[in-house]
Amino acid sequence: MGVSINAEKCIGCGVCVQVCPEVFNLDDEAGKGRIVDAARADEIQKLVKEAVDCCPIGCINW
Ligand code: SF4
Repeated sequence: MGVSINAEKCIGCGVCVQVCPEVFNLDDEAGKGRIVDAARADEIQKLVKEAVDCCPIGCINW
């Protein structure tokens, strides 16, 4: 199961990027979070889980 962001709900707050920049990035043009390296999510599960928990909208699926 891969990690993904529900772009419709995402408010582009950047919290996921602060918590786990290895996997998440901000798309400045779209003003949304995006996944930059889904393959790394399995390696650093703790950080990804923290990002999921910290997302104020709950729009990261993992
Ligand atoms: S923490 Fe959630 S709402 Fe904020 S940029 Fe990341 S995915 Fe979007």
